[in-house]
Amino acid sequence: MPPKRPSNGFIVPTLPSKRLRPEGATAAVDPIRAESERPASPETSPANDRILRPRSRTVNQAPGDDKRLVPEEERMYGRNKNGTENTHLIVFEPGTQDWARIYSLQNKKYWRCVGCRPKSIRAEFHGNDLYVPLTRFHQCQLKKYEHIRKDQEKVEKRFANACSIAEHIAGEPEVAIKNHIDNVHFNHPSSEWLRDRCDSLGVEYSTKAIQLWAKCNIEEIKTTSLPEEAEADPSTVYECISSLFTGDKRSAGKIEKSWTKNLSSGYKLLQQFAGHNFAKMSRDNNKILEDIIFANDITDFHLEFMARWFQCRVGIFEANRWKHFGNWSSSDYKTITILMKKEHEKYQIILTLD
Ligand SMILES: [Zn+2]
Repeated sequence: MPPKRPSNGFIVPTLPSKRLRPEGATAAVDPIRAESERPASPETSPANDRILRPRSRTVNQAPGDDKRLVPEEERMYGRNKNGTENTHLIVFEPGTQDWARIYSLQNKKYWRCVGCRPKSIRAEFHGNDLYVPLTRFHQCQLKKYEHIRKDQEKVEKRFANACSIAEHIAGEPEVAIKNHIDNVHFNHPSSEWLRDRCDSLGVEYSTKAIQLWAKCNIEEIKTTSLPEEAEADPSTVYECISSLFTGDKRSAGKIEKSWTKNLSSGYKLLQQFAGHNFAKMSRDNNKILEDIIFANDITDFHLEFMARWFQCRVGIFEANRWKHFGNWSSSDYKTITILMKKEHEKYQIILTLD
């Protein structure tokens, strides 16, 4: 039976090859790499080069005279804002190491200039050779490499943090996770925290989100706490997260899509969870993963993944008991806390506890 697909039509891409570590999970084994260690050219990562070669028909056609050949030392791979490796291609302007343009891998097929509006401004691989449009065909301005480098460092750092926290959680004996401590602090997010998460999800932050969080009048969660007040409108989890991050439900669809996509590429963040060792799981033809990723309803795997990805803790009150996701084995004044209750397959944001 073919895997179920979400109604939004999003199809999770298959990973290119076993030789490549799955996207999104690499930082767990590969801590932040110093800039000097980044591949200066695809030659340092031949497998990547082979895999990332676009499959569009243009590959076999000769490049037009509107394009120039990029010497290998004038290009490098980078990460997109979700932290996925080898999805950006940084191409230096000829004769300079200070100015560059970024091309982003779209649908695993073609490389599009991120600064230009028309999607047709693309870089093309012909075998190992990379061709990019001549400067006069770009509408965008060159970017300072210094800025590109700093942006890259930021996404690498954010991703490495997410992974190290996941490892920390996975490293604890499972008993410790289940026997969480009795009192855990409820922590509200900063606007910076929310903005960061909105960036990762590709949705727009609004200060309305902070206004909703202000209604969460909770200081501490005890094992005996019961939900009291909740945000009136029962919703899907995606709608709740949309409200908490952007102030209204309108971004739920985008959040669902982005969540699924990141779970598909970054499932290794789950490490050891619910009897599975995700860290050692291959993405190829994996029935367990397919079932989780394409499940019709949100599962514990989704919630645990979100808690690790966003470095928060999530508590769901369902059938008179709490289910915990993320780190509940220690209390601090830092880890953002999201509490929801579930009734009749609908969720509500919890505002106060009894
Ligand atoms: Zn451009």
